Amino acid sequence: MNDSFDITIIGSGPGGYVAAIRAAQLGYRVALVEKYDTLGGTCTNVGCIPSKALLDSTEHFHTAQEKFREHGIETSPVALNFAQLIQRKNKVVGQNTAGLQFLMKKNKIEVVQGWGIFKDQHQLLVKREGVPDRLLSSQYFIIATGSKPASIPGVEINKQRIISSTEALNLKEKPDTMVIIGGGIIGVEMASIFARIGVKVTIIEYMDRLIPTMDHELGQALKKILAKLHINIILKAKVQSAVQRREKVTVSFIHADHEEQSLSADYCLVAVGRKPYTENVGLDTLGIEKDSKGFIKVNHLLQTTLPHIYAIGDVIGGAMLAHKAEEEGIFAVEAIAGKQHPIQYHLIPGVVYTWPEVASVGYTEEYLKEKGTPYRTGKFPFSALGRARASMDTEGFVKVLADPKYGEILGVHIIGPRAADLIAQAVVGMTYEVTDEDMFRISYAHPTYAEALKEAYLMASGQGALNL
Ligand SMILES: Cc1cc2nc3c(=O)[nH]c(=O)nc-3n(C[C@H](O)[C@H](O)[C@H](O)COP(=O)(O)OP(=O)(O)OC[C@H]3O[C@@H](n4cnc5c(N)ncnc54)[C@H](O)[C@@H]3O)c2cc1C
Repeated sequence: MNDSFDITIIGSGPGGYVAAIRAAQLGYRVALVEKYDTLGGTCTNVGCIPSKALLDSTEHFHTAQEKFREHGIETSPVALNFAQLIQRKNKVVGQNTAGLQFLMKKNKIEVVQGWGIFKDQHQLLVKREGVPDRLLSSQYFIIATGSKPASIPGVEINKQRIISSTEALNLKEKPDTMVIIGGGIIGVEMASIFARIGVKVTIIEYMDRLIPTMDHELGQALKKILAKLHINIILKAKVQSAVQRREKVTVSFIHADHEEQSLSADYCLVAVGRKPYTENVGLDTLGIEKDSKGFIKVNHLLQTTLPHIYAIGDVIGGAMLAHKAEEEGIFAVEAIAGKQHPIQYHLIPGVVYTWPEVASVGYTEEYLKEKGTPYRTGKFPFSALGRARASMDTEGFVKVLADPKYGEILGVHIIGPRAADLIAQAVVGMTYEVTDEDMFRISYAHPTYAEALKEAYLMASGQGALNL
């Protein structure tokens, strides 16, 4: 077996597998090392894909219960088969991981199953129980080892009743009650999944709003929408501890009014963020530097302390998103090949798959205010849109922030139906620096949700909306 490669990639998440394919396309001999049996990393196995599968299933259930009658569809009471819900999710994950295996084979990428540890600057030892170690030598390496769930002091994820999203996506039975610590993206998506099937969910969030990293108006609107799902949302509260006794967990927290309170639930889901995963990769042996939070330090070319070793994705921090990891995977490989297409980090969209969905690109209104950047706002509600009325999806709005003098689009923030897909056209417009008026003047099919964007662009350009 020839164990000598041009590029060896450690970790097969969206960063790693995309880098592997791009490298193979550019003619490199590539190895992809993965410690788990299936490819795809967090995203495919325990992140993006399974969570979206469960979000879709539970949204169907909720729609059947809440909207069918209004649409004129009569059913006998709709019942939930929780085991089937999880089984379908597993099938979707299986289809995706199998698809990745196929892609690796098609691109002649050598998949090496096992734990990768640097032996020296050009050799990686791959260990796997029950099979002999392999020593891969490589000219370049890309570290794409991802992240794992983080927690807070006083709360230890025991994977039984105090769980992370990984366990929550694989519960054996539907719980009655759940406390979710953290009202960020993963927290609100998980809350939606469980609340829609009748679980009594409480979100405890430290900040004064949900999805705190996004434009504030989005978090405020989302809070009202989630409250309609009977999710109890406690803001400005600091969790002190989570303690499991038999089959219950008691979560104690101090509210902004300084009063200590506690809640008991079947499960406590910890969704307070993720931390870089660099355990036993041998970084210290090579002197590869990390920052104070444990993220691998990289330069503008994504090179670590050692120029032939690159790092990408969650393990280097920034937006912990699959598509950000993918962009970096392509960038690192192309940098090795001497090509450079800089990543516009500021134009990487962020999406929350609640219903309605939330999606954002560019600057938030708060950021522009803080920087003293002048801007004009165009805001259009979905309730004024024919398409939204037809589908009974009238909640939410599109907000466009644009430069008042030149019409450059500075930020687009959407909460509404299919926001995750709608944001793509805003990314195109902003990437090519098209003005708000240009974005209005292109033709939008009628009736579509996208027409809300057309109206908001028009309003941001300083003119009145056509349909408001
Ligand atoms: C519940 C949930 C939902 C999410 N939903 C979305 C979403 O909708 N959209 C989105 O953009 N992002 C989403 N994310 C985030 C997304 O999953 C991550 O940003 C993405 O997976 C990061 O990709 P990565 O390639 O950096 O690392 P990962 O996907 O974490 O992959 C790293 C891989 O490296 C392997 N590995 C680690 N160390 C070693 C070693 N020493 N040897 C061999 N292999 C090793 C790991 O086993 C793993 O397979 C979600 C995350 C979670 C938890």
